[in-house]
Amino acid sequence: MVTRNANIANLKAGYLFPEIAKRRREFAAANPDAKIISLGIGNTTEPILPHTNAGLVEGARKLGTIEGYSGYQDEGLPVLREKISKVFYKGKFGIDEIFISDGSKCDIGRLQVLFGSGVKIAVQDPSYPVYVDGSVIAGAAGGFAETGYKGITYLPCTAENNFFPNLDVIQANSLIYFCSPNNPTGAVSDRTQLTALVNTAINKGCIIIFDAAYSEFIRDPSLPKSIYDIEKADQCAIETNSFSKPAGFTGVRLGWAVVPKALKYAGGESVNADWGRIAGTIFNGASNIAQAGGVAALDEEGLKEMRELTDFYLSNAKLIRVALQKLDIHCIGGDNSPYIWAHFPGRDSWEVFAEILEKCHVVTTPGAGFGPAGQGFVRFSAFGHRADVEEACRRLNTQL
Ligand code: PLP
Repeated sequence: MVTRNANIANLKAGYLFPEIAKRRREFAAANPDAKIISLGIGNTTEPILPHTNAGLVEGARKLGTIEGYSGYQDEGLPVLREKISKVFYKGKFGIDEIFISDGSKCDIGRLQVLFGSGVKIAVQDPSYPVYVDGSVIAGAAGGFAETGYKGITYLPCTAENNFFPNLDVIQANSLIYFCSPNNPTGAVSDRTQLTALVNTAINKGCIIIFDAAYSEFIRDPSLPKSIYDIEKADQCAIETNSFSKPAGFTGVRLGWAVVPKALKYAGGESVNADWGRIAGTIFNGASNIAQAGGVAALDEEGLKEMRELTDFYLSNAKLIRVALQKLDIHCIGGDNSPYIWAHFPGRDSWEVFAEILEKCHVVTTPGAGFGPAGQGFVRFSAFGHRADVEEACRRLNTQL
């Protein structure tokens, strides 16, 4: 018989969110009258707004016409890549540096093909699970020990360091996964911090994979929305981003990766050329209907809709923050990001998750599921219908 990929056997337990769904199902089965509200996973809930939706509809309509029909588009529609460069990067990148994908998570999972299984990994702790699990599947993480995977340098982001890690512990020639606004902490790194990150990467021969999936939630104009707001980042960073959260495309599937031509491997070869090769070989591009929606989302009208949608979720976040503050629970995030990271010092985060579920019938995400430094925290997600968020806040304030 064919044997199993040993790297998959290295994966620790189940993926976090199916585990939460399982516990929710078990609770619902035992408490059939409970009206459970989820502030757990980061799935969007509000309809796609009209202008962007019309773009999707028009994209589908055109496929039924001779003039409008299109087939494979490996790296993505040129018009979409041009708009992305203009809207998000002030036109700094050529369209051959922007690769359209079916989402940021998919890109993060695929990108590691570029670096092989021998690469050293550094990751914010806590972090979005695909950075660690993707590294394990690629064989880069080594076996699991008490403190985490042996081949991964965890960069604790805690209340003590204001949720920005000590960069000194990053080993030379590592791949650094970095997410800002951060999922799960909701922390946003400022310009000084990201400058330190870029300088560290350049000095130590590292490449950063910068996940900017929540950049459109940033409201403070002094905070960088892209790693390329920092000088020389094009020499050391790949950025991934997505239409999922700001345009409600979690189910539509559309994202992109910026792989600058200035980015080189240790041997001087072009990372951009390899990514083009890989995209053409193992990925046949994003749906052209989704891309038509993406083009509409980046029109003047579409950008107004993105603002409206992200404002809506940020207002939810504010309600949750206020409810937690009334309980004297210290939390961060929720002002420039849709996540609120609530501190329960000295408590086990799965135990806090269970208590909130039992007393309030509200689903959260236990911080420990995002990495060792998440212990003692739970994450509240602002993705929800307003009435549900209001009801969840009422229950937190009266039943916790
Ligand atoms: N990156 C982060 C930090 C996320 O939290 C998520 C989704 O929750 C993604 C990427 C996934 O994005 P996409 O839907 O584009 O795959």
